[in-house]
Amino acid sequence: MAYEVVIGLEVHAQLLTQSKMFCACGTRFGLPANTQTCPVCLGLPGSLPVINGTAVEMAIRTGLALNCTVQSNRFARKNYFYPDLPKGYQISQYETPICEKGWIEIKAGSATKRIRINRAHLEEDAGKNVHDGGTDGSRIDLNRAGTPLLEIVTEPDMQSADEVVTYLKTLRDILVYLDVCDGNMEEGSLRCEPNLSLRPVGQQAFGTKVELKNINSFKFVKDAIEYEIKRQTKVLNEGGKIYQETRLWDVDKGQTAVMRSKEEAHDYRYFPDPDLVPLTIAPERLDQDRGSLPELPVARQQRFVSQYGLPEYDAGVLTSSRHLADYFETCVKLFNQPKTVSNWVMGELLRELNHSDTPVEASPISPERFVSLLKVVDNGTISLKVARDLFPELYASGKSPEQLVQEKGLTQVSDEGALETIIDEVMAKSPAQLAQYRSGKDQVLGFFVGQVLKASGGKANPGKVNELLKRKLAG
Ligand code: ADP
Ligand code: ZN
Ligand code: MG
Repeated sequence: MAYEVVIGLEVHAQLLTQSKMFCACGTRFGLPANTQTCPVCLGLPGSLPVINGTAVEMAIRTGLALNCTVQSNRFARKNYFYPDLPKGYQISQYETPICEKGWIEIKAGSATKRIRINRAHLEEDAGKNVHDGGTDGSRIDLNRAGTPLLEIVTEPDMQSADEVVTYLKTLRDILVYLDVCDGNMEEGSLRCEPNLSLRPVGQQAFGTKVELKNINSFKFVKDAIEYEIKRQTKVLNEGGKIYQETRLWDVDKGQTAVMRSKEEAHDYRYFPDPDLVPLTIAPERLDQDRGSLPELPVARQQRFVSQYGLPEYDAGVLTSSRHLADYFETCVKLFNQPKTVSNWVMGELLRELNHSDTPVEASPISPERFVSLLKVVDNGTISLKVARDLFPELYASGKSPEQLVQEKGLTQVSDEGALETIIDEVMAKSPAQLAQYRSGKDQVLGFFVGQVLKASGGKANPGKVNELLKRKLAG
């Protein structure tokens, strides 16, 4: 039997606010346990929550960027018991989420595909149980309790692991461009839970879905979904039944395993939180926010193609991060040769940044110093080859290209006398090739150019070398 895969995604994005969702505690990661807490996020009796305006603002901006209806809304209590949840309920949104019914477009081969957003709502994160062993049992760190999250839920519109990864990357880029989330999956600021089911090709009704958790990188998203498609296909082909359950991705085993079945699912007894007033969003405010949205990744990519004449591919790489796109545009302002800048950014710069695991916003080479290297190539001071070889040192040393060129004596040799001396030596060493050339084999010229450049340590000006060689080889 042939099956069709159906996938919908729930994503939790940690919002980049200074303080928590309902209290003034900070949101910093990695502080000593329970140092970032107060009566509100500890759930002490009598304490009252206050809505974080910045988190609301971020949710509004995200909703608009995701083409959602952004609406007045209210918070609800989601009741369950767990040690990392001190109040015994999580403040979330249920019947009226702040954002509803939107969509984003993702690349699907050469076409685009629209993925519908069902809803995006605000909620608070829980704390963390720490099981670091010893005889005194497990402990609880509530530093994270109350951190603002935006949960973004799609309709079941995706059909393969690749589509899910593309959707997730597209969504992450939008969130990072909006400055509302750092998008770091490994650190858990972007968490992804795919829901996946199969149905016989041609069937309308959806099959039973399984929810996948514990996925903290793009690679694991792909691996877990591909594993789950195989597993469900096998079960169905063997006449078995898929149970609605939550399964955890096990990285070491490369498989998913049941965490809980539907029978164990909670009844959350949602009800509006009486401690919080309904949140009213005025239409004028939405207009204002809509007007102040930054240029989003897809629009910026298209502009890079039309404004700078870059290939689609270059534009895609350069706009994959807002900081990289900013870096590129700063360079082009200083040196108006977009394709040259693009080649260097995508090649040399990204290579060094990746090697040293440095984000472009922390690049040790400023756009100014980067561009000054391109300028000394452009004005003929050094050859392209020397510039490429020099790049790692430029990156690591903090020196200017001019300084390095001088220290290392790398100035390009264009002086005819000096070049002729090298050419004479090469010609004297290669009588056979010389004879070939003179008998009409023009392509041997390339051999001589290569030899001369090599003998000059890459410093000879290639244009000059070509010109002089043609003259001298002719005899
Ligand atoms: P639940 O009540 O279990 O949370 P929802 O209806 O809220 O389920 O959907 C959660 C996610 O699962 C959404 O992204 C939705 O698109 C997706 N989903 C719903 N039904 C299916 C299905 N049969 N197969 C795959 N994904 C589904
Ligand atoms: Zn607090
Ligand atoms: Mg749901």
